[in-house]
Amino acid sequence: MPRIGLEVSIDAENIAKVEAVGNDFRYFVKICCGACGEITDWVYLDQEDTVEVKGGRGLANMVLNCKLCGRESNISIEDGSRVAYDVEKGGFQQIVSFDCRGLEPVEWECRGGLVATTEKGKKFEVELEDGEWYDFDDDASESISVTNIQNQFKKLKGK
Ligand SMILES: [Zn+2]
Repeated sequence: MPRIGLEVSIDAENIAKVEAVGNDFRYFVKICCGACGEITDWVYLDQEDTVEVKGGRGLANMVLNCKLCGRESNISIEDGSRVAYDVEKGGFQQIVSFDCRGLEPVEWECRGGLVATTEKGKKFEVELEDGEWYDFDDDASESISVTNIQNQFKKLKGK
């Protein structure tokens, strides 16, 4: 089954890494039905919520019933696939991957829940406003920021 990676590119100032923290971190996505191509409004999935897939096919983080063709499909966050974004490395980096059955995420939006860590290991909650976050690290007397979050989805090879 197709696996899809979410890659992001982030500009950050005086920050070492940025990551999605907690099993309740919500990935807000628009999803394209693999059968008819219909695209949903914003929906979200997180690792905490699971639903049963019809026909005893186990659990998924989200089951979608296409509004247009009625087909059921599902998507899950792959266990252990979440990694922090390494600011120094830069460029697009994969931060999570999804197991997709009969659908495909086509858009992602970050609506908060990210944590930024400074070089010295101090953590800040990234509270985005219009996609940007600015704060001040009192310990280091430096301004810190996270801006320009871009993303792309990448098809991955099977397991
Ligand atoms: Zn459909």
